[in-house]
Amino acid sequence: MAAAAAAKIAEVRETTRVERIGAHSHIRGLGLDDSLEARHVSQGMVGQVSARRAVGIVLHMVREGRIAGRAVLLAGQPGTGKTAIATALAHALGQDTPFTSMAGSEIYSLEMSKTEAITQAIRKSIGVRIKEESEIIEGEVVEVSIDRPATGVGTKVGKLILKTTDMETVYDLGGKMIDSILKEKVQSGDVITIDKATGKITRLGRSFARARDYDATGQQTRFVQCPEGELQKRKEVVHTVTLHEIDVINSRTHGFLALFSGDTGEIKPEVREQINGKVAEWREEGKAEIIPGVLFIDEVHMLDIECFSFLNRALENEMSPIVIMATNRGITKIRGTTYKSPHGIPLDLLDRTIIVPTQPYDEKELREILSIRCEEEDCQMSDNALAVLTRICKETSLRYGMQLIMTSSLIARKRKAHEVDVEDIKRAYTLFYDEGRSVQFLREYQQEFMF
Ligand code: ATP
Repeated sequence: MAAAAAAKIAEVRETTRVERIGAHSHIRGLGLDDSLEARHVSQGMVGQVSARRAVGIVLHMVREGRIAGRAVLLAGQPGTGKTAIATALAHALGQDTPFTSMAGSEIYSLEMSKTEAITQAIRKSIGVRIKEESEIIEGEVVEVSIDRPATGVGTKVGKLILKTTDMETVYDLGGKMIDSILKEKVQSGDVITIDKATGKITRLGRSFARARDYDATGQQTRFVQCPEGELQKRKEVVHTVTLHEIDVINSRTHGFLALFSGDTGEIKPEVREQINGKVAEWREEGKAEIIPGVLFIDEVHMLDIECFSFLNRALENEMSPIVIMATNRGITKIRGTTYKSPHGIPLDLLDRTIIVPTQPYDEKELREILSIRCEEEDCQMSDNALAVLTRICKETSLRYGMQLIMTSSLIARKRKAHEVDVEDIKRAYTLFYDEGRSVQFLREYQQEFMF
């Protein structure tokens, strides 16, 4: 049992680690200065200065709430950092602004219609900031007692006497407050806050007044001054949820648990209409604010003409997120038609799109990105090995070069070396093919493969 639990913990830790070194985990923001100029290397981003500057302006527009109804297209060769820039934008926007990322091809694999998949993605990218007012009381605990039912079954009840500046108030405790007290290990002489709206109790520390008679057990204790004067404060509590979350919670067929499984199925249009009406009401009453977030669609050329027209119409909606698309295609066929257009995007959508090109990296930039990735992956690499790896990236692709960091690092470890050297890179290069060599290999041996 204990072993199983330990295995479980190890598994959880491993997942955190895997997430930490995801493809874009080294990126922490757009790396811009206060005047939105891109620093050459900053927050994990290297070069691609004009694209980052352009996206910086988009960031500014999103923050000012002046972006709805527009789309941005990041257009450039594979591996030029389109997804990296979109990820950086998400970081820069902060947690409160919703950011949804999807690949164009994804909508064909879900168990719902294409337009429903797009609608859900759009509504996941629109935040509703709901404001509530709550009263927070801060004071010193004079006495706290909790009566547990003798049988161990039944409801716990309790009493709390709290001293504020000039009075003592007795609280009858139930459910949530008791849970909070037990969790925070509140005892008399502690300074706490009580959120009247939620019943949440937070322990701030021991009261200074009790510092002298506190029997120090050697444990670290935080002593805090119980504030004099105004002890009851009004606090504005703000929650941000997405329209999609409100849809799912209110959808009778699914319920909120579907949010955790991710399997929300299709949501009825009536539910959405109701939610839109309710949100409009809250906005009028000043209780809620809409936050247009970002919907990032990678490989946008994989969408077909129906999806494009749907998306185009959705952008006209008053509550629409900013849509950032990315493609590495030039003039290509619009999926579902026989017509060609730039980037495979219909002209009417392209017309309302700001196009930001991304450029291939030079050797210095590639070396810089690789060295950031080595650090991210805890890999020590000699200068010569880094030079060879940079060369390989130049000849093949940045992504392939990045894969060789971990593989060559494992090869180095096998020979008990602390640093990856040229020989490890060479070995990894011969063991793992890049796209070009793989294609060549297939061509040479195609008659030996099954069709
Ligand atoms: P594709 O067209 O194939 O989807 P892409 O243009 O989206 O490619 P990314 O996936 O963003 O390319 O880049 C490949 C890898 O290089 C990623 O791990 C990304 O984080 C990293 N990368 C790309 N550009 C930069 C940059 N300017 N600074 C730091 N890391 C970068």
